[in-house]
Amino acid sequence: MKPVIALVGRPNVGKSTLFNRLTGSRDAIVADYPGLTRDRHYGDGKLAGHAFIVIDTGGFEPDCTEGIFKEMARQTRQAVAEADAVVFVVDLRAGLSAQDHDIAKYLRSANKRVVLAANKAEGMINAPQLAEFYELGIGQPVAISSAHGQGIRSLVELALEGV
Ligand code: GDP
Ligand code: MG
Repeated sequence: MKPVIALVGRPNVGKSTLFNRLTGSRDAIVADYPGLTRDRHYGDGKLAGHAFIVIDTGGFEPDCTEGIFKEMARQTRQAVAEADAVVFVVDLRAGLSAQDHDIAKYLRSANKRVVLAANKAEGMINAPQLAEFYELGIGQPVAISSAHGQGIRSLVELALEGV
């Protein structure tokens, strides 16, 4: 069985862009509109000699009756339950939000391996803004740029360590 990595995080942090980067696909919908990815999305990841399954989250069905927030929470819980490791994506440029804190709280209680990825870090790899994310209690943030392909290999190696 290949290890499973789930990508979780609030809308618009770059989960689907990271999914595409990890799977080499254009399947996950990436847009300026938060939450556009239609549903939880599985893909085959291949990087640095590792083969793994990736789950993208954060989409919603247009006819979803539960409401977008409930639906995103449901997807996150389900993906985390299925995963061997979780990549918690935050937005280095936007900084911390209340939603990041909520997700962190959930992940700390989930008993899974979690790696924190501070995305949109192109040109800011050693930025002082990184320090803020320690507050989440998830450990050291890894600076990545999903759009530019920076820090991705280190992130995957860290996520799969001991899995
Ligand atoms: P999701 O809602 O978390 O799946 O986020 P998306 O992958 O759809 O990306 C949301 C927005 O952030 C899009 O406009 C992306 O182009 C942009 N984005 C994603 N990754 C990066 C990155 O590494 N750097 C920058 N500057 N923008 C990014
Ligand atoms: Mg998405």
